[in-house]
Amino acid sequence: MKKAVSLLFVLAFVFSCVAGVAEVSTYTATYRGYTSDITVDVDFGFNAISDVRVVSEKETNGIGSYAIDALPKRILAEQTCYVDMVSGATATSAAIRAGVADCLRQAGADMSVFGRNSEDPAPIDAAYNCDVVVIGAGAAGLTAAYEALCGGASVIVVEKMDIPGGNTVRSSGAWNVAAHPDQLAIHATNDNLVPNRTTVEDFVEYTMTGGHDINDIELVTYMVENSAPITDWMRSLGFNCEFSGNASSTSVPGVARGLITGMKDRVVEKGGMILLSSKAESILTNDEGAACGIKGTTSTSGALMVNAKAVVVATGGFGRNLEMVYELKPEYEGFISNNQVGATGDGIIMAQAIGADVVDMEQIQAHPTVHQASANMLTEGCRGAGGILLNTSGKRFIDECTYRDIVANAILEQDQQYAYLLINQAIVDSNVNIAGYIDVGILKGPFETIEDVAEFMNADTASVRETFDAWNGYVANENDPEFNSSFTWIRDLSEGPWYCAQVAPGIHHTMGGLKINTSTEVIATTGEAIPGLFAAGEVTGGVHGGNRVGGNAILDCLVFGKTAGDSSAVYALNHAVE
Ligand code: ADP
Repeated sequence: MKKAVSLLFVLAFVFSCVAGVAEVSTYTATYRGYTSDITVDVDFGFNAISDVRVVSEKETNGIGSYAIDALPKRILAEQTCYVDMVSGATATSAAIRAGVADCLRQAGADMSVFGRNSEDPAPIDAAYNCDVVVIGAGAAGLTAAYEALCGGASVIVVEKMDIPGGNTVRSSGAWNVAAHPDQLAIHATNDNLVPNRTTVEDFVEYTMTGGHDINDIELVTYMVENSAPITDWMRSLGFNCEFSGNASSTSVPGVARGLITGMKDRVVEKGGMILLSSKAESILTNDEGAACGIKGTTSTSGALMVNAKAVVVATGGFGRNLEMVYELKPEYEGFISNNQVGATGDGIIMAQAIGADVVDMEQIQAHPTVHQASANMLTEGCRGAGGILLNTSGKRFIDECTYRDIVANAILEQDQQYAYLLINQAIVDSNVNIAGYIDVGILKGPFETIEDVAEFMNADTASVRETFDAWNGYVANENDPEFNSSFTWIRDLSEGPWYCAQVAPGIHHTMGGLKINTSTEVIATTGEAIPGLFAAGEVTGGVHGGNRVGGNAILDCLVFGKTAGDSSAVYALNHAVE
């Protein structure tokens, strides 16, 4: 009897499996994402995926978070683990897909069905009308969109990637400021701070010198004069941008990814529409040659048409268009780029097609400290907070805090054309962005001893120790007799543990681009402004000249983005006749 019952159970189980009707069970798998391990739970049974949950992760808010939100929904809807990844968050997407595939295999799911590639959706065309269309959802585009909405215009933002943020979302989000009363108050009570660059004149001069004096001084002066007001404006929008008393106080500490997520939310709250995965391919003009919308492709590869009364180009630079970079600057042939994949210069090409002029196109910046294997940049803040650069002989070779191009060239002059960036725990603790580099594995450590640091660098311990001791002495004396460091001497490196990254220059910023005036009107090759066409941010040229100073990119985007929002709204509302 007992034997017959168990036979019945076995038969029932085999039948349910063959028919695909086994009960729903939960399966778990963990895969490495971008900054963390990602664990997914998948409910599978009755031959269907009934739920997908990301149960633990520490991915980047504003980047990986988009994949965490989107992928489970896509997998559930399409009933396959191999759904489209979220462009811009591919490492996170890949980990979720791998985790779900693993769970499905554990469940014995038929992978020819549940592991098939997702089908492309049928193309759907879309057409919209608005006052202002903004191309690009980075800092400049979202700022312009918000300000245009405040000016009473209806606004549509088109962004070709699946996530907003462009290169901005990868930055620390800090910006330089001059002559802000809070900044001056900090300087008045703290002798330790370098007293330069707090006046408009000093900051203009610093930016011009940094840019090899080829910058458009009118644009620079406008940007610098607006640096304090834009800081107050950002505060009025609820962004937390206070000066910190222990830095040099020439910049507002980064609002980081909060800048993009915060500005995007404000655009939507104000009634703006953001079309993601939607690419602009050309700028429309009317019979008078005025810009009046864009044509492109929708998220389903259908035809996209946005009719507008004004167009703001905020597509960022072309640092990821290596063909264009190498052609304009052949000495950078072979350099990697730390830019996001969308930084391909589309806005420049589209605007040139309707007559726009460009300036300084061959002025392309290599950031000195890019981790080559991952193409991730380690912020200036590492050196500004006290980090030093050593060559493979364990020696310093440059003032670490000088202009980017000088540091980058100095690294390329070293035997191996790379260097080691060295910091300690106190520096890691001083800046949340720096701590993130440890999570993604580009900053190695903690190293408890100088011997361990030297071993990582494959350098002679005695040389490294000598460099350390000399440097700590310079900090104590606030004077670097070797390279005349412009460091603010806020901390030395005597206390470990230490962290280290191998770095070399990588394409970072394209200073050249569309020619604009201080109203952000795009200037044609004829010298006249193109009616209805405005531009802001990295897509423009002239602000940074031959070399962009750290902390000026976000300032550029905020100041000129806001102006582009104002100018485009005023233009659109004054051209209300169709
Ligand atoms: P900025 O710092 O000047 O704001 P970002 O690089 O942060 O520049 O942002 C520019 C944005 O423009 C990116 O998100 C990029 O994907 C987007 N973009 C670039 N080309 C196009 C295009 N043809 N259509 C829509 N969006 C685009």
